[in-house]
Amino acid sequence: MDENKLTPLIGLTLPELREVAAGVGLKPFAAKQMAAWLYQRRVSSIDEMTDLSKAARERLKQAYCIGLEPPVARAASADGTVKYLFEGAGDRRVEAVYIPDRDRATLCVSSQAGCRMGCTFCMTGRQGFHGNLTAARIINQVMSIPESDRLTNIVFMGMGEPTDNLEAVLAAVEILTEPWGMAWSPKRITVSSVGNIPGMKRLIEQTKVHLALSVHSPFPTERQGIMPVERAFAVRKVLDMLRGYDFAHQRRLSVEYIMWSGFNDDDMHAIALSRLLRGTAARVNLIRYHAIDGDTARRPSAKDTMEAFRDKLNSLGVTATIRASRGEDIDAACGMLAGKDNDKNNNSPEDNICQTR
Ligand code: SF4
Repeated sequence: MDENKLTPLIGLTLPELREVAAGVGLKPFAAKQMAAWLYQRRVSSIDEMTDLSKAARERLKQAYCIGLEPPVARAASADGTVKYLFEGAGDRRVEAVYIPDRDRATLCVSSQAGCRMGCTFCMTGRQGFHGNLTAARIINQVMSIPESDRLTNIVFMGMGEPTDNLEAVLAAVEILTEPWGMAWSPKRITVSSVGNIPGMKRLIEQTKVHLALSVHSPFPTERQGIMPVERAFAVRKVLDMLRGYDFAHQRRLSVEYIMWSGFNDDDMHAIALSRLLRGTAARVNLIRYHAIDGDTARRPSAKDTMEAFRDKLNSLGVTATIRASRGEDIDAACGMLAGKDNDKNNNSPEDNICQTR
């Protein structure tokens, strides 16, 4: 049987598994059994689903496979960070980054091959859009890395804009958090966005995960120059929308802020950022810029400048921390490894990668 013609079972939600069950003549409760085999016992073949009859398993095998796909490449950093490359969409590959840190182990997953958002500092943005990942290929990143059992946190901050592939991201979050699925606490999951208002609203209303908003400049014209999304969804309006929800208790809102020398790292920016965030309970993550190939216009801010910026924000009542830079020896900014791989295989030199947001 050609596995490529079979539909993956991983990535299916419980209602979708009920449809699968009905299609092969099984009772609806078999869907829960299948979900347990897939997401809790993590079987690698339909034959292992031993509480389904042999005949039902045979019928399932005619149309379905488990769908786990191991990573196609791996690069390990001296600091323990590991970047994995997966089949993505079409002939494009995507990556997931495993980041161990004391008692935490975070996986940064991708949601799209390439991206439509066009952020100028981002290698994924430069490569353009090549397709959405299916829920199966998002869940596969979590399930098929060797460190899967050790994961404590998942962040949707890899390649792509999660709200631009929302149905698959919502399905993946459902599988990760529901009791019939992987039963993760939503508090261990963060979904990032550049600020798509309807998409973020749906994420807030249909899930309980934490949200991260990429800001990078508090000034509209300046932000629009690096993030075209500002034209469609002004960050000020995004924050107005977010003020309508509670981020002071169970769920967190973080703001991502990449720092570039002489661009967005002075007191004026810190003051404007603190004003922009007033009343939101957002915490700010200051991120050191990983320079991308061909970007001679931007340099990362110096360590002491970042510390002074953090201190200024803190003095203005905004909780701000500097995110540790990880895996620089393996191009760990999201997209860099995939971009190089995609270049090597078939693409133009400009087709590249994503900067960590
Ligand atoms: S930073 Fe994120 S949203 Fe912007 S182009 Fe890169 S992947 Fe897309």
